[in-house]
Amino acid sequence: MTIEVACPECDGQLQHEHDHWLCGACHHKFSQRVHCDKCDAELEKLKACGAVDYFCNSCNELKSKRAVIRRFERLDS
Ligand SMILES: [Zn+2]
Ligand SMILES: [Zn+2]
Repeated sequence: MTIEVACPECDGQLQHEHDHWLCGACHHKFSQRVHCDKCDAELEKLKACGAVDYFCNSCNELKSKRAVIRRFERLDS
């Protein structure tokens, strides 16, 4: 299964490598941050029984993977 993720800098394709994402076109590294769809706070990642869920400490709500907002933050300069 291939997940296609567009680079926020150049629209190239990002590839998942270990704990970060690498753009094959501009070679910048990104880390993925997951935010709440309601309050925009950064979510806490919860792993249970092989499934990943997210928890918002501001809303006090469990978030499903589909409900969250994902953003990429550049790691190098
Ligand atoms: Zn790029
Ligand atoms: Zn929230």
